Amino acid sequence: MDSAVAERHLNAQTEAETSGPQPTGCDWCFGPGQRWSNGPHGRHRRVPVAVHGRGKSSAGPTARREIDMTGQLAGKNTIVTGGTRGIGRSITLALATAGANVTACYRTEGEHVDSLAQQLNATPGTHQLIRADVTDPEDVERLVDESRSTHRTLHGLVHNAGVISRAPFGELTPQEWHRVVNTTLTGAYLVVHKALPLMVAGSSVVAIGSRSATIGLPLQANYTAAKAGLVGLMRSLAKELSPQGIRVNVVAPGMIETEEAARTSSEQRRAHVEHHSKKIALGRYGRPEEVAHAVTFLLSDHASYITGETLHVDGGV
Ligand code: NDP
Repeated sequence: MDSAVAERHLNAQTEAETSGPQPTGCDWCFGPGQRWSNGPHGRHRRVPVAVHGRGKSSAGPTARREIDMTGQLAGKNTIVTGGTRGIGRSITLALATAGANVTACYRTEGEHVDSLAQQLNATPGTHQLIRADVTDPEDVERLVDESRSTHRTLHGLVHNAGVISRAPFGELTPQEWHRVVNTTLTGAYLVVHKALPLMVAGSSVVAIGSRSATIGLPLQANYTAAKAGLVGLMRSLAKELSPQGIRVNVVAPGMIETEEAARTSSEQRRAHVEHHSKKIALGRYGRPEEVAHAVTFLLSDHASYITGETLHVDGGV
């Protein structure tokens, strides 16, 4: 891996080497023609410790609620894969806000990485953003090594990285099959396998699955298969790792409107969201932070008797 461990510090000048965030969307309504490609690997930045006051939470009956998770994960060391955009970004920020030290990985450089670094810099703890592709064993090893050298032990691991895909089964190529399965399922194997030696009694693993794994979706056979496989993998690990005091669970979101998806939303997509919202008991798409809250809970000691579980965060589909 070239320049695999080149390090950048927060506030260093942004590299203008990428074209910015890739297309995004919820896995249930991903538009045709949107495909992600693997970016170049190999850079990471470390966010230095910074201690600042914590913001107050505000909430109204219909407004976005800021749930106060302060201290729930105080002093815990965590890794989040795919932690710079969408749901993963919310998870990264929620864990840091809850007091954890967060090492988050991503593939693609861009303004979103810089802005997250700034946000983390304003959050107490030792945080680092590392460029690493979860489908690449060397990258995963480097990610875990960085976490080890900074934090020594690992209390929480969140495998969030995932890619979506949309193709009629008859047109599903082996490449597209493997791209999706490698990120979700093989990526989970790689990160848990490499990180296991760092885990201690009380550590907790959470994989981000999908509601679609249990209901099935047309045009997404590879995606739903990978997410269903994730449930089997995590249930087995829950049993195998319980003697070591390690809990393993899945959070399975339903339809989540990430900020990026909402911002780039077309009229057609808005109509789609409105239509599908009617099928949800709570009448709306979920928000990334609502998934992040479930993850924070499962990583925390409040969930000390929960393992092998799949927690659906879907508003009641
Ligand atoms: P986004 O596209 O917004 O974010 C995906 C993240 O994963 C990005 O940060 C991306 O990094 C990262 N990623 C993808 N592939 C890799 C890789 N090989 N190595 C490292 N990082 C990678 O997706 P969402 O936030 O919508 O989804 C997050 C998770 O939640 C996924 O697992 C998805 O399947 C699941 N989910 C989402 C739902 C939704 O409605 N949004 C519903 C159900 C499940 P980069 O930006 O560098 O490409």
